[in-house]
This record gives sequence, structure tokens and C-alpha cells, in this order.
Amino acid sequence: MSEKRTENAREVSRVASPEEGRSRLSRRGFVAGAAAGVVAGGLEWASFGGRFDHRRAPGRGGAAEESAKERFAASLRATEAGASGVVHVGHSTHLLALAGKRLLTDPWFYDPAFGALSHEVAPAVAPSELGRLDAILVTHDHADHADLRAMDEMDKRAAVIVATADLAARVRARGFSDVSVLAPWEERALGSVSVTAVPGLHDIYEIGFVVRADDRSVYFAGDTRLHPDLPAIAERFRPSAAILPVDGTRLTGAALHVMTPEDAQAAARTLGSRLVIPSHAEAYFSDPIAGHLLASTVPRARRRFADLMEKELPGVACCVPEAGELVTL
Ligand SMILES: [Zn+2]
Ligand SMILES: [Zn+2]
Repeated sequence: MSEKRTENAREVSRVASPEEGRSRLSRRGFVAGAAAGVVAGGLEWASFGGRFDHRRAPGRGGAAEESAKERFAASLRATEAGASGVVHVGHSTHLLALAGKRLLTDPWFYDPAFGALSHEVAPAVAPSELGRLDAILVTHDHADHADLRAMDEMDKRAAVIVATADLAARVRARGFSDVSVLAPWEERALGSVSVTAVPGLHDIYEIGFVVRADDRSVYFAGDTRLHPDLPAIAERFRPSAAILPVDGTRLTGAALHVMTPEDAQAAARTLGSRLVIPSHAEAYFSDPIAGHLLASTVPRARRRFADLMEKELPGVACCVPEAGELVTL
């Protein structure tokens, strides 16, 4: 059903530019969008309650997905051979490989999140194909960052670190026994790696993470907009790499919820990291009512961020990885 809705959304956007298309969009799009929104909202509500999950893994099996899977396998081999780095899975989901440990950030695999948001590019692998995980780090309780159905299919030996007791309880109910809630500036050691929660600023409560091992550290910012604690993060950790959200998600009539490419470039300047990776910019509103009326994002945000970085901070490496690609630290 969600695939059909996605097709409808694409159909509507294809006819959106001519004048005739615009009037058809306003009638058909609005009615279809309203109906889809009501149905999806109801399903999503029941899904969040843990009663069932109607969502689907996005289009697996095509040539692009096969190459992403191969890239991911090659990246894992490189990390097993000792490389440290960030393997891009998709959107905000990354596998951090540091000092032999494997930590997954903000898992999202099944579409649509919120009944409205879908992957532009399918995640590199299915959740069950991630292999061994030492930790799963979840910045906040939004459906495109805390995909419990996907976590159900992951390595249950992983330590899970989340922002709230409520989410911790739901993660435990899925069979994870080692679940911690970290407040900003609290730290947890995972053998050779330490994970520190840092403040974030979003439309719901959120933390970010700084993961450190040996002489390397990675700041994963989750979904935040620019916030006043960035200088403290820079001073305290001097993160060697920063993964920053860039798609400027804004709900209509409300404040900005996620950094724009310009904001992320300002954050990169404050942080002083030698490597930056744009994140949270590979999703689209597959529900037309959400995409046309309720929310907006900056188009081509990862590319725009990379262009800005090249112009403003040419001494900082900016990598825009494909699904499955390893960015070495
Ligand atoms: Zn969010
Ligand atoms: Zn998000």
C-alpha cells in the first residue's frame, strides 16, 4: 500500500509544472493527500503503539541496491582489516568503526516514517545484514531515527544508548538487555571506545553523541539545528570528524528543526573538525499533503553543503558518501 502511495506521489509531482497540472494537483493531490494522510496517520499511530507495523523496506533488489550492498560488504571488510571510519548506510544511519568496535547511529530502514517520509535512496543493506553491532546510538524518538521494527532484526547483544527513559523501555521490550539513557555530557565506556552525549536542539528532546577511541573522535549531531553548545563540544572534544544534518527540515509556520547547508557550514567552522560528512538529506515526503502543505526541506542539500564547504572552508575535507561507502578517519 505504501508503494502505491509513493507511485501516486511521483505521478502528482510529474504533472505539477504545467498550468493544467497545477489545477489537477490542487484537486486530485489534495483529496488523495488528505485521504492518504488520514489512513497513514491512523496506521502509523497504531504502529507506534507497537501493535503492528505496516511499513516496508524500500525497493531492494535493483542494480543500484546491489552495488550499495557490495560497497557495504567491501567497507566492512576494510574495517575488519583495521580501518577506522564511517560507513554510510542511508539518511542519518551510519556504522561507525572505531578501535574494533561497531556502532550504528539513528537506525531508519522501513518506509514511510511518520506515514509520510520515505528514503530517496534505499539503505545500503537490510537491518538483518548489518552483522555484529557493539552499540546502537539513538539521538531522539522520531520515526526516521528510532526505527524499532528495524532494531528488532539487529544484533541484540548491542548496547543501546538513547535520550529518554520512555524510548529505553520500548527498546528493552524489543529484547535488548543493555539499554542506557544518557543526559548531555554523560559518558559511557564500551571497552576501547567511549560515548558521550552532548546537547542538541530540535522540535523534541534530543541528544547528540561524541564517540572517541585512541586519538580519533566523531561528533554525530542527529537532527539538530544550530545550538549554543557547539563551541563547548568543539573545546571539550576537538572532534576529528563531524556528521552534520543539512536538509533544513521546517514544518510550515514553525521554526526550523534541522540545520540548513549554510547552518551546517557555520557549525563546521565552529567545530574545527578536519573532516565533515553531511547527513539527514536522503528522504522525501512520499505523502503529498505532508510534502506540499505541512513541511519542507532544502533540495540537493548534501551537494549544496559540499559546495559551500569548498568555497568557505577549503581546508576541511567534506565527503558525501554513497550508500555503503566507507569514509576513513
Ligand atoms: Zn527529528
Ligand atoms: Zn530526522
